[in-house]
Amino acid sequence: MTEKKNSVTLEIADPVSMSELGARIGEKLFPGAFIAMFGGLGAGKTTLTKGIAKALSIEGILSPTFTIVRHHEGKLALDHFDAYRIEETDELYAVGYEDHLSSGSVIVMEWCENVPDALPEERLEVHIEGSGSDVRRVELRAFGRRYEEITEDLNAC
Ligand code: ADP
Ligand code: MG
Repeated sequence: MTEKKNSVTLEIADPVSMSELGARIGEKLFPGAFIAMFGGLGAGKTTLTKGIAKALSIEGILSPTFTIVRHHEGKLALDHFDAYRIEETDELYAVGYEDHLSSGSVIVMEWCENVPDALPEERLEVHIEGSGSDVRRVELRAFGRRYEEITEDLNAC
């Protein structure tokens, strides 16, 4: 499953493995890290986010609601965005997106398909394909050197 160093594709067979992948990513995060998630309803974005949060000693990650962003305190702070209901990028800025970006919190954003213009240049993209009981195809793409450490680590397993 090895590809270029700045990307890696994994097959994830169950929710526990998805959460473990999240924890592995979470252990490598740093203040201000940005994880941009893509993938349809039920792909496993929130499951992955829970794993990331676990590595930061955070519990209580919730699935989609009408709340665009939730802040969590942990080893690093985590701002969990869900852009599912966002139609205009302006709605993201209306909830203080820029302040979140400069706050040093780790940001995980679900449904980045809806806000492609709002993503920072440097980020880790996570693209998940599959739903229901499908094995998930998870592609991680590093944009920026700091994120390549994560894809390199995952390529090595
Ligand atoms: P999303 O946030 O992308 O809408 P969730 O993580 O909330 O998705 O839900 C994914 C659902 O799919 C969960 O009910 C989970 O138990 C189930 N599931 C089944 N197989 C997998 C897998 N391989 N990876 C992740 N979730 C899976
Ligand atoms: Mg979700």
